Amino acid sequence: MRILLQFPEGLKQKAAQYARQYEKEGHEVFLSASACYGACDLALDEAGWLKADKIIHFGHNRFMKGDLPIPVEYVEYKLDMDVEGLSAVLPHLGGGKTIALATTVQHVHQLEGMKQFLENHGKRVLIGKGERAQVPGQILGCDGGAVKSVEKDADAIVFVGDGMFHPLALATEKPVFAYNPSARTVKRLDTEIAALRKRRKGAITRAYMCKRFAILLSTKPGQFNMAGAQWAKKELDKRGFEAMIVAANEIEPMALKNFMTFECLINTACPRMSDDTEEFGKPMLNLDLLQELLEIIDGAREGGKKKGV
Ligand code: SF4
Repeated sequence: MRILLQFPEGLKQKAAQYARQYEKEGHEVFLSASACYGACDLALDEAGWLKADKIIHFGHNRFMKGDLPIPVEYVEYKLDMDVEGLSAVLPHLGGGKTIALATTVQHVHQLEGMKQFLENHGKRVLIGKGERAQVPGQILGCDGGAVKSVEKDADAIVFVGDGMFHPLALATEKPVFAYNPSARTVKRLDTEIAALRKRRKGAITRAYMCKRFAILLSTKPGQFNMAGAQWAKKELDKRGFEAMIVAANEIEPMALKNFMTFECLINTACPRMSDDTEEFGKPMLNLDLLQELLEIIDGAREGGKKKGV
């Protein structure tokens, strides 16, 4: 069988080892060298050109709904942790009795053990389910639904995993404690989450002054949002702005730099791209914030009309 192996950046160092193993089994093996940010990012184009019979995608679980043009096998990368390490979180929870617990795909196989541990220490543990994430308790950078769906009944949120990318997806008002199982450290993240929210809102103020908009459309299979891009263009056109849809597989600041005419970017791709707007040098709004901007513009114009401006 001809197979294309795809690894996220952190696992590419293991690629040759896996490739050798599949070759030994008699397969013809290709490695995808494209950047891979998530399970949304399947190398379908490369597989098509290579006439591969299958993609084996490492490090993530299924994300895409519906049929794909080529079979995709997902190989998760499970990291075992010492569940007892969660004792480091307990003193931070104070009197908080009910906890919403969430983690990443690397640790979700131990979620039941984590829950048991917290329950044994007198906590009530809630585990929700996201929309895009496959498994209860799992969060993605674009899907904090596992927390959102239960947070109203929780006193605090406990996230288990490395790094800040995933917990910053948790747009919650409740205290968030991130436990890093490798470093065995706990960090309270309310300030970071609030700052990110404030930055996103700040982009609306900057976008309000703009007249020319580039609407970013990614052709990555799990990020492609033609309906969203067309909606954005229609709404901006309708209000007399200049709006163009700009398509690329990977939306790169460098590639956009020469489109100097555009003053503001509307993001229909990975919603976390808008966390890095400094790199793009222009305000960037996800579609929910574009909706807010349009409401502000409509309100201001309506107000202007009433005053006879
Ligand atoms: S859309 Fe963004 S956050 Fe969601 S899985 Fe893809 S890369 Fe991750």
